Amino acid sequence: MHRPLRLICDKRAVSQNYAALQERSATVVGAAVKADAYGLGVATVVETLLEAGCRDFFVSTWSEAAAVALPPEARLAVLHGFGTADSVIPGVRPVLNSVEQVRRWRSLNPDGLSCDVMVDTGMNRLGLSLTDLAALDGLQIHTLHSHLACADEDHPLNQLQLKRFREIASAIPANRYSLANSAAILIGREFAFDLVRPGLSLYGGIPRAEGEGVIQRVASLHAQVVQTRKVNAGDTVGYNATYVARRDHRIAILNIGYADGYFRGFSDRGYVRAAGARLPVVGRVSMDLTAVDLTDQEVAEGDWLEIEWDLPSAARQSGMSQYELLTGLGSRFERRWI
Ligand SMILES: *Cc1c(COP(=O)(O)O)cnc(C)c1O
Repeated sequence: MHRPLRLICDKRAVSQNYAALQERSATVVGAAVKADAYGLGVATVVETLLEAGCRDFFVSTWSEAAAVALPPEARLAVLHGFGTADSVIPGVRPVLNSVEQVRRWRSLNPDGLSCDVMVDTGMNRLGLSLTDLAALDGLQIHTLHSHLACADEDHPLNQLQLKRFREIASAIPANRYSLANSAAILIGREFAFDLVRPGLSLYGGIPRAEGEGVIQRVASLHAQVVQTRKVNAGDTVGYNATYVARRDHRIAILNIGYADGYFRGFSDRGYVRAAGARLPVVGRVSMDLTAVDLTDQEVAEGDWLEIEWDLPSAARQSGMSQYELLTGLGSRFERRWI
């Protein structure tokens, strides 16, 4: 069935971002592929990253893990650990987050399968507290992790968490130590340790200025024109009549809306490209439709227009984070990989 909106994703950009993060971190680069690889489609992303040399993958839950098929040389870990209702998938490691999870893992795992551990160094989200580390005595730890709360800004917590993590790494034996997400990789090599775990930047997100010119855009949005119409000076466009035409002009109604992840924050702020021109969004973005001012552009029903969706600037325009923009992309797109 024809789909009137497309997400075009570039495999080469994913591989190049992987290579760029390898170069910046000078260590092993894994990949966070949770949330369907941030909305882009986990199957193709994993396949592309495997080809780029990635061997370490991270998802949030065991049901996500069950949907990822990996060759034997690659490894998968579940960031939310090992909960009361979880059962082991052979070859997949939990990232244990609490004393309860460590106990549960020890008691349900008589074969001594290896696991990862997350230690909380100041974010107060997931991970064992610094006061609970005795619970790890004798545990076979594959990779010991922590996670920064403020890596996308220059915040004193970054250095404090780094210092705490260094102390933990010297006290608790593990095969590997890992601290950095995309933003932390961009701060500097001292955050890289033995493994980094980027997600966002593999998919074109730029969480810090250091990533500009280094990280390439992966996804572009294209929508078909359902209808064009003329509005006269004084006419309003869309729900609640927020846009009032100051002159006579033509508009196009595009087949994309907030149900597709083109959020209401783009109302009267977003842009669409047509033959090199930038056409402003006029009025409220609705669930399935968005209107743009055509000015002098020749655009007809059925034409495809590209939505301007460069992640850092789209985040500023819409007031959403780059993460929300990616993971919000809806299921109505035809996801086309080039
Ligand atoms: C999601 C996640 C990542 C990836 O973070 P990005 O900011 O997308 O690079 C890394 N580590 C942990 C623990 C995560 O939950």
